[in-house]
Amino acid sequence: MRETRESRRRALFVSAPVKALVEGIYREDRTVASLAEHGDFGLGTFNDLDGELVMLEGRVYQLRADGQAYAVPAGTATPYACVNFFSADTVETFEEQLDLAGLQRRLQQMIPSPNLIYAVRIDGQFAHVRTRSVPRQDSYRPLVEVAREQPEFDFHACSGTMAGYVTPNFMADLTVPGLHLHFLTEDRQRGGHLLACTTRHITVALQHLPRLEVELPVSIDYMTAEFTRDLQADLDEAE
Ligand code: ZN
Repeated sequence: MRETRESRRRALFVSAPVKALVEGIYREDRTVASLAEHGDFGLGTFNDLDGELVMLEGRVYQLRADGQAYAVPAGTATPYACVNFFSADTVETFEEQLDLAGLQRRLQQMIPSPNLIYAVRIDGQFAHVRTRSVPRQDSYRPLVEVAREQPEFDFHACSGTMAGYVTPNFMADLTVPGLHLHFLTEDRQRGGHLLACTTRHITVALQHLPRLEVELPVSIDYMTAEFTRDLQADLDEAE
């Protein structure tokens, strides 16, 4: 198939396999600014795991371990980010209290197959949202250990946006499998990696992404890493 501008715009771009992140490779050369060539929407983290990344309408927010959103300095790099050009194929509104499991069931009803990739944007009002944000780390500390120390934040009766992806389980070495969402409050001041929620009134926008583009870093750390351990248990706990 010839690559057209349109087909590139319907691809999920993954800046590095998540397996490298889980192995403790927390630094790459890919700048956050350069993600704009691949999308205007997405999530990820920053070098040294210095917070959670969320991109909305082309703007990148850094949700650091204090739960606050910061502007991202030019030249800031990311070891793992997933982005795409967001344009909803399906939009549905839910005026009901859904916990995260209930929200996942609604999403499963909206998607035609679990074997495809979807971008998910949820805007609305929430009775409760719980997030966590990773604290800055040295490389090589296993992600599963880091995750045990991440501060958590509770937001009550708030409005905001969740951004992220549903990806097939067979892609678990490339992206965080299943549903992965980052939350940003409506005033764009606070947020983090979504752990739990109770919805009140939400609009769910879904986009099917038929293509996957994965960058394989050329850093020394990445090229010399030995990916021999089975990391699924770590990833399940860390993400
Ligand atoms: Zn996350």
